[in-house]
Amino acid sequence: MEFLPVFLNVRGRRCLVVGGGEVAARKAALLQQAGGRVAVVAPQLGKTLQESLEKREIAYRQGRFEPRDLESAHLVVAATDNPGVNARVAEEAGERRMPVNVVDEPELCTFVVPSIIDRSPIVIAVSSGGAAPVLARLVRARLETLIPATYGRLAKLAADYRQRVKDKFRHPPDRRKFWERVLQGPIAEMVFSGRDKAAREALDATLKAETGEPGTMGEVYLVGGGPGDPDLLTFRALRLMQQADVVVYDRLVANAVLELTRRDAERIYVGKERDNHALPQEKINQLLARLAKQGKRVLRLKGGDPFIFGRGGEEIDTLAQEGVPFQVVPGITAASGSASYAGIPLTHRDYAQACVFVTGHLKDHSVNLNWQMLAQPQQTVVFYMGLKGLDEICGQLIAHGVSPDMPAALVQQATTYRQRVFIGSLTTLPGIAHAAQPKPPTLIIVGEVVRLHEKLAWFEPVETTVADSEW
Ligand code: SAH
Repeated sequence: MEFLPVFLNVRGRRCLVVGGGEVAARKAALLQQAGGRVAVVAPQLGKTLQESLEKREIAYRQGRFEPRDLESAHLVVAATDNPGVNARVAEEAGERRMPVNVVDEPELCTFVVPSIIDRSPIVIAVSSGGAAPVLARLVRARLETLIPATYGRLAKLAADYRQRVKDKFRHPPDRRKFWERVLQGPIAEMVFSGRDKAAREALDATLKAETGEPGTMGEVYLVGGGPGDPDLLTFRALRLMQQADVVVYDRLVANAVLELTRRDAERIYVGKERDNHALPQEKINQLLARLAKQGKRVLRLKGGDPFIFGRGGEEIDTLAQEGVPFQVVPGITAASGSASYAGIPLTHRDYAQACVFVTGHLKDHSVNLNWQMLAQPQQTVVFYMGLKGLDEICGQLIAHGVSPDMPAALVQQATTYRQRVFIGSLTTLPGIAHAAQPKPPTLIIVGEVVRLHEKLAWFEPVETTVADSEW
């Protein structure tokens, strides 16, 4: 992070703007919007600032910038078209440890002015740290379309009822749940569609009906976190990730995905490596039920899809038995993620009319599969957890009649910046894998479709930030 985002209170405080042109006018207007007392120093004023002066919205000293202009100012913006003057303002401000922004010169700034989405009292600031202001503006434009213009009114409603809700619910978690229901439900929709009065009546009624007693039963969200790239989460997954009180996750969940859970949620790691379960499955099942019974909203976050080699079924079986409410949110399974990001379609009219997902790892460590079925032509076979058994998998397929030249791919850490794709045949892939020592998790795809990789590969893993996906 290049700059620390903070929100500055400038209400009633003197803010100096150096420069009289249109850029200076825009900064002055912004400072005024936040309640700052704007003082401008410049040899002359452009049209906009001249008008502000006439309306007495700003104070003005005609002349060149002098260090004494900084006296009693809380911050300064240098917006002249003279680089020498701008640099001097930055230097003088620096000596006084005064926050300074120099327009279009990020390296002279101690603060930058972000692109702002104003839904006061909700304010969203977007910044590229001066690196790409146009990009920041585009992000802002997207957020503008996403967040209803009336969001501010919803915040106002919440502010007006804050004390009453506080009095009613003494336990903060109950309060939070109440607000989440109100702010995402029909009452919020009433505000968005301009029916404030109806919204207030509905809120009054809801408050009256609530007993204020702490809720006893929570719930469990069994959520698929996808193969690694956080962009592949569903909207529902993200929403539940952000409202859960506890997150129970295992090794396959990428860091970048985990990062998107609520900041203050409790996080419980339950491990799960091959042959090394940090917590036995039975204990995990019970943990989920116990947490929910304490009234918590529990996010059981799994890699990929919870119902594909994820033991999701076992976990909710226990919940169902114990009467704990739950919901299941599908995720992109590793086969889909690997196939898409490696440019290997799983089916294709010319090559494969079927696709089978199998696990290459069985309870007794053998790879005891229905080889006859897997050796059928015109299908793609995807092996999860197959790295250890790779030699045997390739050998058995050949032994059951598949051509030794059948293309096969091994995809490491699919969809993340560490993705690597190894291409070979049933004969060569084991050797390639031994030499390359791929890092888990890895997936194996066997079938004619693997030939398409050469033409269709499109994803170039790029290391973006340190916090990018890793396991
Ligand atoms: N529920 C998960 C699968 C869990 S089994 C899903 O739907 O994807 C764990 C296996 O999934 C790993 O051994 C590996 O074979 C595969 N896997 C998971 N994420 C992967 C990824 N990003 N890249 C390649 N393989 C992955």
